[in-house]
Amino acid sequence: MGGTFDPVHHGHLVAASEVKSRFGLDEVVFVPTGTPWQKTHQTVTPAEHRYLMTVVATASNPGFTVSRVDIDRPGVTYTIDTLRDLSAQRPGAELFFITGADALAQILSWKDADELFQLATFVGVTRPGHRLTVEGLPEDRVSMLEIPALAISSTDCRARVCRGEPVWYLVPDGVVQYIAKHRLYTSAGCLPPQA
Ligand code: ATP
Ligand code: MG
Repeated sequence: MGGTFDPVHHGHLVAASEVKSRFGLDEVVFVPTGTPWQKTHQTVTPAEHRYLMTVVATASNPGFTVSRVDIDRPGVTYTIDTLRDLSAQRPGAELFFITGADALAQILSWKDADELFQLATFVGVTRPGHRLTVEGLPEDRVSMLEIPALAISSTDCRARVCRGEPVWYLVPDGVVQYIAKHRLYTSAGCLPPQA
């Protein structure tokens, strides 16, 4: 499962758990992106923090692991490189790439789209307000799965921390504590909490 995970939240974890169960997967590998090419225009928290929060969030689940392939590869992250690296590390494994329906909608614009479909089956998870409308995706290599609606986004979590509002129960407890310990998502530009 690829994502920026800035921070990882319960929407990601429920999506991963649901896809693992429905597709009978042995393992879900969370892969925090290095510099996401879709997000080069915005400031993203240093990769090491995003990686460690993902480790904290997944530590208690024996079926969840976290990979450093994208954060250790220099340059901008492309999914084709992620899949090549993961498949080299797991010879013979059948790979599924889990991503949000919003990201899947851009799939045809991804680098080397044809090879992507040879390396993995793509699973698009939907959340409230997002639907896949792209035509021309190979049906046998792309599945859509509705996730129990959890209207949580990392953007909202960051904004809440910034405003001094709680993120308890939106992200795992350890991630709440990690954010506080490292003072993530607070900046001089933040508005004070509403009185
Ligand atoms: P941001 O708000 O910063 O874009 P995000 O919450 O979308 O963050 P990402 O790290 O971009 O989180 O998410 C990785 C993938 O998980 C994305 O493709 C996204 O669509 C999907 N996703 C995020 N939140 C949910 C959710 N609540 N339910 C299902 N899928 C989700
Ligand atoms: Mg997003």
